[in-house]
Amino acid sequence: MENINIKDLSPTELEEFVSNLGEKPYRARQIGKWIYKKGATSFDDMTDLPKGFREILQDSALIPSLSLIQEQISRDGTRKYLFELWDGNRIESVLIPDSGRFTLCISSQVGCALGCTFCLTGRVGRIRNLKPSEILDQFLHVNSRSSRPVTNIVFMGMGEPLDNLDNTVGALKTFTHPDFIGFSPKKITISTSGLVPKIKELGERISVNLSVSLNAPRDELRNEIMPINRKYPIKELVEESKRFPFPNRKVLTFEYVLLSGVNDSDTDARELGELLIGVSCKVNLIPFNEALPLPYKSPSDARVLLFQRILIGYGLNVRIRKNRGRDILGACGQLAAAYPVEQNLKNLRKNVDIQPLRHKASKGEYENLEAK
Ligand code: SF4
Repeated sequence: MENINIKDLSPTELEEFVSNLGEKPYRARQIGKWIYKKGATSFDDMTDLPKGFREILQDSALIPSLSLIQEQISRDGTRKYLFELWDGNRIESVLIPDSGRFTLCISSQVGCALGCTFCLTGRVGRIRNLKPSEILDQFLHVNSRSSRPVTNIVFMGMGEPLDNLDNTVGALKTFTHPDFIGFSPKKITISTSGLVPKIKELGERISVNLSVSLNAPRDELRNEIMPINRKYPIKELVEESKRFPFPNRKVLTFEYVLLSGVNDSDTDARELGELLIGVSCKVNLIPFNEALPLPYKSPSDARVLLFQRILIGYGLNVRIRKNRGRDILGACGQLAAAYPVEQNLKNLRKNVDIQPLRHKASKGEYENLEAK
């Protein structure tokens, strides 16, 4: 039987696993504390477990980790991390320090199937889903290296988290369980492009924050820039999102990437205002980050401000999000993790502090483990 990666198991699944090995369920909480709170990488470290049980664990489970192969530091302090997975695929995570908050943007898939036209990850296509352990490891690596603990987690990296719902929920259970990572659900945000039935399912399975990447006020335009809209049109998306069960005092967020001449006119702003009027929500406006292979431009500051002002006139709470990490391709929609599209963007990397890491560790280790 193949040995199981212990970090792929949610707290409940880990309880079942230890029960099947003949131990009491509370052993799962001990194991969780060792791995997620004390950083244990071997069952030998878990000195409060009986020696015989540690040996059984060694024969039946593993605690591998992603290989962190590069860290880039933007001029604005944003950090981008490149990880290699056991199969050679690569993913990225971004840490954004901002007025006391350390927000980690994590990936949920290698690539993405949804093909939003303003997103580099969408150009890669979906290669595969990340496992719960691969989602969690991004946090564990970055949190252990960061000068201050990560305060917020957003699923806005590579991939559509609701297109990998089971593994995303599995990771969320570990993130939020007090004896495992113990992260507040109020500090975790799932961002979706609009997989309507999965929004409902997510809400039934766990309560965290939800952010909807909207980007257009009408179907005709959204169909063009976000093909998922052809299946789940805007009104359906907004209605389902309004029903989402938020943690206390938290509200729905809509993200709106402003593409010059495409979705940033006064008419667009007014239509968006009409669509969202009366909805308890926040709206984040994100001026497009100009990445070379994509056929869009960022609007002028004046246009962005006018767009915001029109929305405020509809009683909406609207913020303009600063572009962070542009020089290291760490901003929204720019994560493409060393896939060919990135080769075209070398010029943007000038004057960036790139730190290759010395330990390009465990791919071989993973291969050995897989062969067992
Ligand atoms: S914006 Fe999100 S959902 Fe759309 S292609 Fe990019 S990663 Fe996928």
